[in-house]
Amino acid sequence: MVRNLAVLALLALLSPATALAAPPPTLRVDLVHYGGRGTEGFAVERVLVEPLPWPGHPERRVDDTNLGKYRFVVTDPATGQVLYSRGSSPVYGEWETTAEAAAKTRAFGESLRFPLPAGEVRVAIEKRDAANAFRELWATTVDPADPLIDRAAPPPAGEPIVLFESGPPPVKVDLLLLGDGYPAAERGKCEADARRLTGALFEVEPYRSRRDDFNVRALCPEARESGISRPSLGIHRRSPAGTTYDAFGAERYVLSFDNRAWRDLAAQAPYDIVVIVVNGRTYGGGGIFGEYATVAADSLWAPYIVVHELGHHFAALADEYYTSPAVYEPATERREPWEPNVTALLDPAALKWADLLTPGMPVPTPWEKEAFDARAREIQAERQRLREARRPEEEMDALFLRQRDEEEARLGAERHAGAVGAFEGANYEATGYYRPAADCIMFTRDRVPFCPVCRRAIERVIDLYAAPLEGGSPP
Ligand SMILES: [Zn+2]
Repeated sequence: MVRNLAVLALLALLSPATALAAPPPTLRVDLVHYGGRGTEGFAVERVLVEPLPWPGHPERRVDDTNLGKYRFVVTDPATGQVLYSRGSSPVYGEWETTAEAAAKTRAFGESLRFPLPAGEVRVAIEKRDAANAFRELWATTVDPADPLIDRAAPPPAGEPIVLFESGPPPVKVDLLLLGDGYPAAERGKCEADARRLTGALFEVEPYRSRRDDFNVRALCPEARESGISRPSLGIHRRSPAGTTYDAFGAERYVLSFDNRAWRDLAAQAPYDIVVIVVNGRTYGGGGIFGEYATVAADSLWAPYIVVHELGHHFAALADEYYTSPAVYEPATERREPWEPNVTALLDPAALKWADLLTPGMPVPTPWEKEAFDARAREIQAERQRLREARRPEEEMDALFLRQRDEEEARLGAERHAGAVGAFEGANYEATGYYRPAADCIMFTRDRVPFCPVCRRAIERVIDLYAAPLEGGSPP
């Protein structure tokens, strides 16, 4: 804190025209998002002021990226002026597409974070309708003068570790790596894991070129036991950030269902985005747009997982794969997804990445799909057999390595490899959805870059958090 204030003061002296005003405190509204069996609703759990000031960009408070299944909008009730907005696709939004949501009701914790307003504000949550337009679902008011707003310090998370700093939090993307399942004796491992994964992330474009737009810090809160929950093996842990394998019954899917726990920890470092680094060897991860990404630090595939899952969490990228089993129920009709990197191609002339299309590329773009799918089915069957037989993780690694080498060669030899077109098979569906390129980090574990469409989508979100100040001192 003291250090950041010193940086701000120095900037003010050096360039008065672009000086940063002291950022406001960070307000957080913790909600319960509940539903199932055809219902959906929200309820306020508590309102609090986080210990650190607002880390977001003072001139990018209104979200113009049009991402997310949901969006929250903070307005001044007197004037109707939008003070803050952000899109998100919270865990609830995934759960409601699982079979369980048709039969049961459940609740999930969520948080809305925004700069502490000067007076009472209206806070509304919107959700996309069938035509992808946002419609208001729920609203409440928040009065910053309410004496019941909690200003107490959260439970300790340990000293933040600065991995690298490029400038004051308001004008940078503040990435936090939050360790989970690391006891005191493994604090050194937590830091080393965070450094290694940060190194892997910034080797990949567009992160490599945009490194100066980021600050990266780590927190290693002390766990009682090593590792996290893995219910399918009878392993249950009360880890600091609450992550668990087997989310929604998928062995490789790692999520936290304890929003309050990880939010209270994360609040102790400046953050716009969070990667929860899980002290585990079993392949796994997850990425929730607007909430967090997770990665199993000791998996051979951790450098790939962190990049792929951050694609979901940070830039709302859809999965381009369709050959791995998904927890979601298949869509009953083909609607145009709102995500930037998949399309239902209902109107090929209106392709959302038309401006990036390789000249002369046929749409849809032909590729050797049958051969790819046939081999992928064999690999999936082998993968399932290894997990059911509880074979050592080395055998899964070996299978994935074989798969990577084969798919890399197969997709790299495609006639339209490297081109931008519309390749059928994406968004967990073998037909009816299309991806921009033959191969991409959102499609396979191959050693390939993000396709140009994904790369541009990430850059647009970087610009939502990191930019030089244009208008001088913000209000
Ligand atoms: Zn892509």
